[in-house]
Amino acid sequence: MVNVLSGKEIAGAIRAGLKSNIEPLPENPKLAAVIFGDDEGSLAYARSKARTAGKIGIDVDILQFSDDISTANAIQKLTDIAQNPQYHGIILEEPLPKGIDPFPIREVIPPDMDVDCTTSTNLGKIISGEPLFYPATPQAIAEIFAHYGIDPERKHIVIVGRSRTVGLPLANMLLRKKAGGNATVTVCHSRTPELHEFTRRADILVVAVGRPRFIDATHVSPNTIVIDVGTNYTDEGLVGDVDHDSVTEVADAITPVPGGVGPVTVACLLKNVWTAFTNMQINNKR
Ligand code: NAP
Repeated sequence: MVNVLSGKEIAGAIRAGLKSNIEPLPENPKLAAVIFGDDEGSLAYARSKARTAGKIGIDVDILQFSDDISTANAIQKLTDIAQNPQYHGIILEEPLPKGIDPFPIREVIPPDMDVDCTTSTNLGKIISGEPLFYPATPQAIAEIFAHYGIDPERKHIVIVGRSRTVGLPLANMLLRKKAGGNATVTVCHSRTPELHEFTRRADILVVAVGRPRFIDATHVSPNTIVIDVGTNYTDEGLVGDVDHDSVTEVADAITPVPGGVGPVTVACLLKNVWTAFTNMQINNKR
């Protein structure tokens, strides 16, 4: 019988802790969620984060700009938001419109407001072992491991996906020479030949590909713990990157979709906003 690694309780506990910290304060932490363009998925995700944040006392402004904005104007908009003293954190919702170069845009976010950890500075700090923030999804996976007593040390962890927000930072976190790390990590991607040969050798398989039910039972060995990061909106509703029906027949444990990594990710993002807020208060910045 497969173990279902629900994220709901973990997320609830993180949110409750944040709420009790924020409730007595005279001022709420405030996050700017910036959207360039009209990507419906980005808007829906930003609204859902804003609803969750509002319940624990974090205010979120969703700031949406036209998709025909130039890179220079987008940089100016983000600069203005970063300098606005009411904000403690900024999230740049992606994907960006085709005409905008993401690299200079991301770098405009000051590292101490970069709660999504997308700037080169903050990604570099993860690799150097001195992070300001851990990106929300890798942090959520670490929370799930801790909650269910899964120790990455000495495990072979195979990550399918090498994105800046999930695969790359997660691989670096798991390689750290400290508690919560010390794993042996393999990162696979779209150019990996014979993916099965890698995934079948995983003690823990993390899937962040963005393709519905991409990983099935043929990719998984018995006793494997499967972490499904995927969130794909299909005609059948929200499904992961893992074919749960077949993989649950083989795996030892699996995170559900919905109700697995997703809610913990949002809670960890809000934790980063709280960290940004308290750091700014300590440093008298806002
Ligand atoms: P992404 O930036 O699009 O990256 C996808 C990765 O999958 C890339 O590294 C890509 O390889 C790899 N890939 C694509 N096709 C592949 C194939 N056939 N075989 C092996 N690897 C393949 O996606 P992301 O931002 O990491 O997100 C991945 C999924 O997680 C999406 O469904 C997203 O919605 C979801 N997500 C969920 C949460 C949450 O809170 N649950 C948070 C973040 C993301 P290349 O690098 O070679 O292109």
